[in-house]
Amino acid sequence: MSTNLISSGTTAREKVNLRTPDVMAAVQQQVESHYRSDIVEKVRRAGGTISVDDTTVRLAKQFGFCYGVERAIDLAYAARGTELSIQQQIKDRGCQIVDTTCGDVMSVWKRVRKYASESATSIIHGKAEHEETKATSSRALGDGSGHYVVVLTLEDTDYVCDYIRHGGDKHAFLDKFQGAHSPGFDPDVHLQTVGVANQTTMLRGETEEVQRRVRQAILDRDGPELAEKNFRFFDTICGATQERQDALRELLDVPMDLLLVVGGYNSSNTSHLAEMGEEKLPTYFVLNASRLVSATEIKHYNLHEKREVVSHFWLPNGPAVIGITAGASCPNNLIEETLIRLFELRGISRHELELAA
Ligand code: SF4
Repeated sequence: MSTNLISSGTTAREKVNLRTPDVMAAVQQQVESHYRSDIVEKVRRAGGTISVDDTTVRLAKQFGFCYGVERAIDLAYAARGTELSIQQQIKDRGCQIVDTTCGDVMSVWKRVRKYASESATSIIHGKAEHEETKATSSRALGDGSGHYVVVLTLEDTDYVCDYIRHGGDKHAFLDKFQGAHSPGFDPDVHLQTVGVANQTTMLRGETEEVQRRVRQAILDRDGPELAEKNFRFFDTICGATQERQDALRELLDVPMDLLLVVGGYNSSNTSHLAEMGEEKLPTYFVLNASRLVSATEIKHYNLHEKREVVSHFWLPNGPAVIGITAGASCPNNLIEETLIRLFELRGISRHELELAA
């Protein structure tokens, strides 16, 4: 994710770095006062589990705000990349851009720019319409001569790999990746030398599989010596995303009745947490506490239908163990509200919860 603070009405056009220690300390203070939660902090310090009567809630060891969002939160709108062309338009209007882009995202941009300078096409594992990936794609053009294609799934990857190995129908390829390739992209020409990069919040295992499959396709086509020259990759999953995925994996090792994943429905890293949960147990991906309508009704995002749906009888009647995790842009106060609502629906008041925390 990345962020730019745009201050209009100024004649200054130079780029300003706001990452000075005093500014970052002030940001930290604001984040603490606006978004922290006493209950969540206490539960965390006590090992991540809180039990009242027959209700137990287990929090993942790592969840919620990442360092990138913490830095950015009070400086600008949601932490996402901005396309170079948009930045230029803003500059042209005499605005000042303050770049607070997360370092993890910048390292991806550096990498794809390098690919472009080496005439290697970037194969980007991500969502073509996601702002971070759009920003990365614009950097993959380099000085304008670079190329990219965005693959979302392993099926997309296999399609590209087949083309690398055997060639194919160019028009069908361009149709399939419509909106997900660079202008003028020609699969017959631009899959010769490739470099894999990814949106920072993808599932690590899946990104590694994309790298492995593309590498194998190049190896099959070119043999080991040439493949070394024609394939490159760089691990660009961000540390915070990885920590949250690892912590959830650990949480899921212990039997639970259900999992709540709290966060924005368009958040890539949160969706991946929900996917991981779904594989193991009933999982409800909720925007915030308001989605816990009653003990028998919950509104939650269905990843497959890509819309919010309503489920009934989601909360067990008897003893229950419930897991909670949250995406990198979800503040602790939203998690606290969800926790309070959950206990409330189990007949336990906020006061009782605070006493137990
Ligand atoms: S999720 Fe990762 S890449 Fe995105 S802002 Fe947070 S630390 Fe940076």
